[in-house]
Amino acid sequence: MPIVMKGSEVAAAMKEDMVKKVSELKAKGIVPKLAILRVGSRADDLAYEKGAIKKMADIGIECEVHELAQDVGQKDFEAEFNKINSDKSVHGILMFRPLPKNLDENAVLEVIQPHKDSDCMCNANIAKVFSGDLSGYPPCTAQAVIEMLDYYKIDLTGKRVTLVGRSMVVGKPLAMLLLKRNATVTMCHTRTKDLAGTCRGGEILIAAAGKARMITADMVSEGAVVVDVGINVDENGVLCGDVDYDAVEGKTSYISPVPRGVGSITTSVLAKHVLRGAGAQFN
Ligand code: NDP
Repeated sequence: MPIVMKGSEVAAAMKEDMVKKVSELKAKGIVPKLAILRVGSRADDLAYEKGAIKKMADIGIECEVHELAQDVGQKDFEAEFNKINSDKSVHGILMFRPLPKNLDENAVLEVIQPHKDSDCMCNANIAKVFSGDLSGYPPCTAQAVIEMLDYYKIDLTGKRVTLVGRSMVVGKPLAMLLLKRNATVTMCHTRTKDLAGTCRGGEILIAAAGKARMITADMVSEGAVVVDVGINVDENGVLCGDVDYDAVEGKTSYISPVPRGVGSITTSVLAKHVLRGAGAQFN
């Protein structure tokens, strides 16, 4: 039977470390704080926000939510953003995207202070991730995969990693983080020929495509480590990943479930980035 990589175990270990960092910061008079900026009330934004608020409270990080109406104008949106960006008591900003179509996000992404950019929205942080500079703030989901692999002591050096998905939120930055760890990374997308064969070539297979159960048993090599980033709702309304878990698990050495896998770690990474923004150092 494979080892099931549980997000809750990774998050618990991260919490222990972060609670200590919060105490150290507070001893220096710094109270770490996350500001969440949300325009409108999309259900998935609200769900993530709820989880983020709970996570920050668990760790001892303050959290304030700035909610703007769906039809807010560019001027008021920028004014609210700038208020948060210049507030010295705020150490991290989470802004839900996509924004409504009438708003230009570039206006704020050009001015966000990089150390407050907890989810890698601005070019300065993207450039750091792509140049292998670890002082940047990678997207939380991409970093969550690394935290999971590290926690389960999956050595990446020289390993063949096949990654399905090339978005700027998950696939591409994750490929860079894996390369930084000296993995040999192959990226797949909708135009990849022989997707099954390419996936089988991976000793580690990471699915971040957003297609319910698209990774089937014939796409997985014996003993592979399989990480599922996907969060999908299937035709029966059931939450599931990109991996056909029941069919695949028997072939794997390690596998992450959905739910309770990578998705359970992202808000922990968010918290870690807020603490780093407040001056905490992590190994
Ligand atoms: P995007 O839709 O932006 O990107 C999907 C990528 O997968 C694209 O590069 C696309 O290729 C590729 N792809 C889609 N279908 C196939 C296919 N059949 N074969 C090969 N490649 C395919 O999605 P995101 O990156 O934003 O998210 C990916 C998944 O991760 C989603 O399920 C999302 O819900 C989940 N997610 C989970 C998070 C978490 O906290 N666990 C956070 C963020 C996302 P192409 O470029 O050619 O179109």
